[in-house]
Amino acid sequence: MIKTVKGCKDIYGREMELFQYIENVLSKMAESYGYTKIITPIIEYSELFQRSVGEDTDIVEKEMYTFQDKGGRSLTLRPEITASVARSYVENHFETLPAPLRKYYIGPCFRYEKPQKGRYREFYQFGVEAIGDISPLIDAEVISLAYNIAKQFSLKNIKVRLNSIGCRKCRPHYKEALKEALKPHYEELCSDCKRRFYTNPLRILDCKKESKELKESLPKITDYLCDECRNHFDKVKEYLSLMNIPFELDHTLVRGLDYYTKTVFEVISTDLGAQNALLGGGRYDYLIEELGGRPVPAVGFAMGMERLMTILKAENKIVRKDPVIYIAYQKEALKEAIEIANKLRGEGFITLLDIKGGSFKKQFERSSKRNASYTVIIGEEEKEKNTVQVKNMKTKEQKEIPKGEIVTFLKEWRKNA
Ligand code: ATP
Ligand code: MG
Repeated sequence: MIKTVKGCKDIYGREMELFQYIENVLSKMAESYGYTKIITPIIEYSELFQRSVGEDTDIVEKEMYTFQDKGGRSLTLRPEITASVARSYVENHFETLPAPLRKYYIGPCFRYEKPQKGRYREFYQFGVEAIGDISPLIDAEVISLAYNIAKQFSLKNIKVRLNSIGCRKCRPHYKEALKEALKPHYEELCSDCKRRFYTNPLRILDCKKESKELKESLPKITDYLCDECRNHFDKVKEYLSLMNIPFELDHTLVRGLDYYTKTVFEVISTDLGAQNALLGGGRYDYLIEELGGRPVPAVGFAMGMERLMTILKAENKIVRKDPVIYIAYQKEALKEAIEIANKLRGEGFITLLDIKGGSFKKQFERSSKRNASYTVIIGEEEKEKNTVQVKNMKTKEQKEIPKGEIVTFLKEWRKNA
């Protein structure tokens, strides 16, 4: 038997139901903030992620699915989607559109990680990007959308963790101070962090192996922000308060990707256990430039769909299902049955035409197995009279109506159901 690749899984049944529900809610929410959808390819040139996510990150160091295609190009299955949206922005000249450009996406991402609860090798990300504006108001708006998503799904103990990691001007000073403070602890650091000490010491704050005590004892980046970054951060906090979004400052929050500047945030929930980050994001003012565009500031976040699905599954979330209409018929009335089925489908009813035929008794049984709300019955007699029988499968009530009234009848029932 051939199985799914390690860390990947099929989505079907109850999970598919939840997935579609989540996808619908997320799309509607993003659209209510003015975001429109973008689909970018799942494969990109490897260089895109090396340059954007950064060489010294877990993703690029160990988690990418990279391969050579038959033309000898180095391609990568995307580990995240922000880089692709930024690439698309430059390639398609989105800078000519009104700013900020608001885009959202939903799609699979791939990371070669150790599979465990809430961690897969193929997983789905939903995310938004607001590109082209430097105002802290857009940071706050993006964070408010993230927070409202967690609220919308009624997650418990939702927290927004917030920090600023400065810019090209102020971050180098902080890095120096951080290294100075870390020096006496160098030997205690894990092997990855020993390397990070030289390549990217900020990442040590993000390491799950280092103790909380050590992290807490280190200098705070917010004490090293330049005037511009401090003002920006103050404004973000002010706007968040204005929007009634509660947040907690966390000076150890740096996020795992290189492209962030200024604002970084996460939304976490106690519903999620160890893998408690539902989503993460921040501002990335250099990314577009890094990818060959003009300097264009941007801010966004990405969320793992699986983590949300796990919660909703545990809560036994009821997703409202559309009613199913079943069509039962005698073989002399097949033509009419097909006609009715197509008409109902055209009106948006989920319509199942019985396939096997045979006695009405058998067809009713199949209708029940499919949990149909109504069975529309058309036999030789009804065909003659130009009528149909409609049977409410719950109340077992059955009545005859003119064939031409079937849509009106079922629509009326659906409205009150
Ligand atoms: P973590 O610290 O949990 O590894 P991350 O910093 O790698 O998260 P991001 O790159 O910011 O995560 O991705 C955003 C979101 O995508 C995460 O908050 C999480 O919900 C989800 N996510 C990341 N990696 C995985 C994975 N391997 N499987 C499922 N979901 C994931
Ligand atoms: Mg990770």
